[in-house]
Amino acid sequence: MPPTLPRRYWGNFSGVNVVQKQLEAYREQFRDYKMTPQRRLILQTLLENQEQHLSAEELFALLKEKDREIGLATVYRTLELMEALNIVHKLNFGDGRSRYELCQPQAEHQHHHLVCLQCGRILEVKEDLLHQLETLIEKEHGFQILDHRVSFYGYCSECRKSKATGEDNDE
Ligand SMILES: [Zn+2]
Ligand SMILES: [Zn+2]
Ligand SMILES: [Zn+2]
Repeated sequence: MPPTLPRRYWGNFSGVNVVQKQLEAYREQFRDYKMTPQRRLILQTLLENQEQHLSAEELFALLKEKDREIGLATVYRTLELMEALNIVHKLNFGDGRSRYELCQPQAEHQHHHLVCLQCGRILEVKEDLLHQLETLIEKEHGFQILDHRVSFYGYCSECRKSKATGEDNDE
């Protein structure tokens, strides 16, 4: 029996058909706004690059390869619209550029991010892990939590490994 792939691999594993299906699902969220070819291409490119946390400029570079006509202003405007429609999250990891990722409609709360200060990699923690804290805050402060944005800053396992070997060599 083949091993079951975790949910996060679906996007990469499944190829074109699933991207098309996902496109249809997101399409509804555009509500009264027209799904223009360029908006569709932007959505599709975000779907093909899930977990990349692309900046507007990085997204633009990918789009340019598919549609030479597309302009950076269109990309900015579309991202703004998609943020207002709750289709993308705008993320800020303190590196001076906004990054974007698709909202996961099935997730109740946003996942957490691990930001490596050495290589700049952004890793995801899918498990919420905050239920206890959320309950405590709601109880103590009478505050209803709808969502949260949590980023942890530090060094990823690979950077830690190379750091450790580096230190060994010094000694
Ligand atoms: Zn939560
Ligand atoms: Zn790293
Ligand atoms: Zn993420």
